[in-house]
Amino acid sequence: MKNSLSNLKLTWNYVKKNKKELYTFIFLNILIIIIGIVVPILSAQIIVNLTSNKFNQLLWISLIVFIIENIRNLIHFYGNRASQILYRESMSRIQNDLGKNILKLENNILDKNGSGVFIQRMTNDTARLADIYDILTVYVSRIITNLGIFVAVFIINKLAFLFLLLSVIIRYLIEYVRNNVLKINDKEARKEAEKASSFASEMIRGARDIKMLNAEESFEDALNERIIALNSKRYNMAETNRRYGLLRGFAYDLSDLLLIILLVQLIVLNKLEVAYAIIIYNYSSKIPSIVNDIGTLLDKMRDFNLSAERIYSIINSEEFKKEQFGSKHINKVKGDFEFRNVTFKYEEEEILKDLSFKIEKNTTTAFVGKSGAGKSTIFNLLCKMYDIDSGEILIDGININELDKDSIRGNITIISQSPYIFNLSIKENLRLVKKDLTDKEMKQACHLACLDEFIESLPEKYDTIVGEGGVNLSGGQKQRLAIARALIQKTEIILFDEATSALDNETQSKIQDAIKNMKGKYTILIIAHRLSTVIDSDKIFIIEEGKVIDSGTHKELLKKSDFYKQLYEKDLKK
Ligand code: ADP
Repeated sequence: MKNSLSNLKLTWNYVKKNKKELYTFIFLNILIIIIGIVVPILSAQIIVNLTSNKFNQLLWISLIVFIIENIRNLIHFYGNRASQILYRESMSRIQNDLGKNILKLENNILDKNGSGVFIQRMTNDTARLADIYDILTVYVSRIITNLGIFVAVFIINKLAFLFLLLSVIIRYLIEYVRNNVLKINDKEARKEAEKASSFASEMIRGARDIKMLNAEESFEDALNERIIALNSKRYNMAETNRRYGLLRGFAYDLSDLLLIILLVQLIVLNKLEVAYAIIIYNYSSKIPSIVNDIGTLLDKMRDFNLSAERIYSIINSEEFKKEQFGSKHINKVKGDFEFRNVTFKYEEEEILKDLSFKIEKNTTTAFVGKSGAGKSTIFNLLCKMYDIDSGEILIDGININELDKDSIRGNITIISQSPYIFNLSIKENLRLVKKDLTDKEMKQACHLACLDEFIESLPEKYDTIVGEGGVNLSGGQKQRLAIARALIQKTEIILFDEATSALDNETQSKIQDAIKNMKGKYTILIIAHRLSTVIDSDKIFIIEEGKVIDSGTHKELLKKSDFYKQLYEKDLKK
C-alpha cells in the first residue's frame, strides 16, 4: 500500500502536466458517478410503476432515463478523448525521462544488463505506468457508482443488504488471494521476457555474424529455449486465473441461489413486496461487476506497481547508479594529460596497475602492446567511461573527477575500431555532433578524413543512408567517417583505436593520411596494431599487463626494447 502510494506520487508528476485534460477527465467522471447513482433509482421506479399500473409516470421516467443515458454516452466520448491525450503525453514524458536516465547510467551497469532489460521497460512498463490514473478514475468511479446500489438495497431491506455485503466480501477475498498469487507469477514472467528480448535484440544485431558462423540452428534453439521459459511462466499465470475463475464461478452461483431462497422467504413472511424483491434481484446482478471491477483494479495496481518499480529503479535507485561528474568547466582544454599511479578493475581482476605517464598537448602518442594489455581501457578511463579505483587522471593539470561532463567528453573524441554509425544518411550522421553544420564544413572534414572521393561516388552522395550500424560501409570507411565526425566536433583530443582487421593497403594509407592531416593541431593518442602507423609518433608507450614497460620514440625503442624490435620485425615481414 505504501509502495503504491509512493509510486502513484512519482507518476503523478508526469500526469499532472496536462492540467486541462486532467480536470476535464475528473469532472466528467464525477458526472458519470452521479448519473450512475441516479439511473438505478429511476429504473427501480420504472419497475414499481409497472407493477402498480401507473403507465403515465412510467413513460415520463423512461424518457428521463433515455436523456440521461445519452448524456452519459456524450460524457464517455469527451472523457475518452481527454484520457487518450493524458495517456499518450504522460507516456512520452516517462519514456523521455527514462531514456535520459539510461544514457546517464554507469557503463558497468550498462555492460551487466542486457539491452532487453531497458527495451522492455521503455515500452511495456511505461505504457502501464501512463495508464494508471485513467484506470484509477474509471474503475473507482464504476465501483462508486455500483456502490449506490447498496444504498438502495439498504433502504429497501436490511437483511438483503447484509446478505449482499457478505457476498461481496467473500468474492473480494477470492480476488485478493488470486492477485497475490499472480503477483509472484507476473514478476517471474517479466524477468523471462527481459531475457528473451535481450537475446532477440542481440540476435538481430548479430544476424550477419550468425549467418557467417553458420550458427543459425544453435541460435534458433537458444531463442526457442528462452521463449519456452517465458511461455511456461505465462501459462502459470493463465492457470492461476483459470483455477480462481472456477472458484469465483461457484461462489457467484451459490450466492445467486441463496439470494433467491432469502427473497422468497421474505415474501412468504410478508416482509418484502414482490416488486422490491425483483428490484433487489436485479441489483444483485450488478454485484459481479463490482467485484470484477475491484479484481481488475487490483490486477492493474499490481501491474502498475511492478512496472513502477522497474522504471523508478532506473530513474531513482542506487541499484542503477548514474555517472558522477564534478562541477568545474573548461570550454576548450589545452590537451595535456597525465595518469598518476592509476589502478583500475572492471570486476575482480586488476587491469591497470599503478600506471603512470604524461602526454603533452598537440603531440601524437602511440600505445603498443599485446591484446588485452589494457590499452583500450586507458582510452575509456580518459573519457571517464569508468571510475578508477585509485590514483589520479589529470587533464590540463585538473583531476577529471572535478570536471563536468562537457569539459571531458566535449573535448575528447574516441574513434574506436568499429565506430557505431547510425542508420541515417552520411550528412545526418555528421550533423549529430554539430546541429548547424554547413555543407562547406562537412565537405572539408570529409576531405581531411580522405572520405570525400568515396562519398562523391555514391548515387545519393552525402544523403546516402548507411544502414543499421553502418553495414553499407567497409571497416575503413566507417573509421574515416568517425574521423570526419571527430574533425567536425573539433575536440582538442582525439583517441584513435586503429582497426586490427586487415584493411587493404590503400585504405590503411588513407587512414594514415587522415591522421597526418590532424597531426600537430590536436593531441592524438593512437592504439597502434601496425607499427607503420606509429613510426612518426612523438612518443610510443609499450603497455604490458596494465603497466608502461618502456617508452620513447621509434628510433629509441628500436635500440633499447627487444619487445619493440621483435614487434617491428614481425610487422615488416607482413
Ligand atoms: P587492449 O586494448 O590492450 O587489447 P583492453 O583494455 O581492451 O585491452 O582489455 C584489457 C582487459 O580488460 C582484458 O582482459 C579484457 O578482457 C578486460 N575488459 C575490457 N573491457 C571490459 C569490460 N567492459 N568489462 C570487463 N572486462 C573488460
